[in-house]
Amino acid sequence: MAEAGALLADVFHALGQLKLEGQSTLEINDFVERMIIDDLQARPASKGQYDFPYVLNASIDDVVCHGMPSENDVLRSGQIVNFDITLEKNGYIADSSTTYLVGEVAYPARRLVSATYNAMWKGIAAVRPGARLGDIGHAIAHYARAQGYSVVKEYCGHGIGREMHEDPQILHYGHPHTGLELKEGMVFTIEPMLNQGKAAVRSYPDQWPVYTRDGKLSAQFEHTVAVTRTGVRVLTLRPGETPPCKME
Ligand code: MG
Repeated sequence: MAEAGALLADVFHALGQLKLEGQSTLEINDFVERMIIDDLQARPASKGQYDFPYVLNASIDDVVCHGMPSENDVLRSGQIVNFDITLEKNGYIADSSTTYLVGEVAYPARRLVSATYNAMWKGIAAVRPGARLGDIGHAIAHYARAQGYSVVKEYCGHGIGREMHEDPQILHYGHPHTGLELKEGMVFTIEPMLNQGKAAVRSYPDQWPVYTRDGKLSAQFEHTVAVTRTGVRVLTLRPGETPPCKME
């Protein structure tokens, strides 16, 4: 799983080097597909899963998650866009996402993106043997609300391994000292979605994208993490990435 995570981190590192402005989300999908298959000799795990035809989700501005790559969505300066990608190597899957700033982005959107990143890390910092799932959710939601943002409740993190989605569900809200106890060897994702306005989302029958109900911005970050003997290991840690908060 660490190998799959490291390869996926390389994909995000490469995405971070790209000039996103002026590219369609379909072009970016194709770039990522070629890198995963040709350069990394791995499999894009989302392609074909649930009949999904792409290797990533591209969720722009008020799209909360599950945005579809499209040649019509050419990224413009001022937008925020989340790319959510899964990769399988030697039978094991890693799952991660980053919200990128396109060109010059206004302060309110930058602040949301930064707070969402920090909220994910607050959750990661709560992971250790003996902690409970409610500790993770509480750490995320408590921080998000203190920053003036709401947490989407309809979508959550998940166990991951040979399958993309395994038990348990990892809620991004909760009460301390409640829920399943974490044990060494568990691997799951932490992937909070924070909204600028209200938490409510809207989706449409037979369509993938999920939108904020009030049309305000939403951001998301995701890492795949493993519970170690003494704490947590972030399997999809990017080259050069360091936690923005104190890890217990
Ligand atoms: Mg996930």
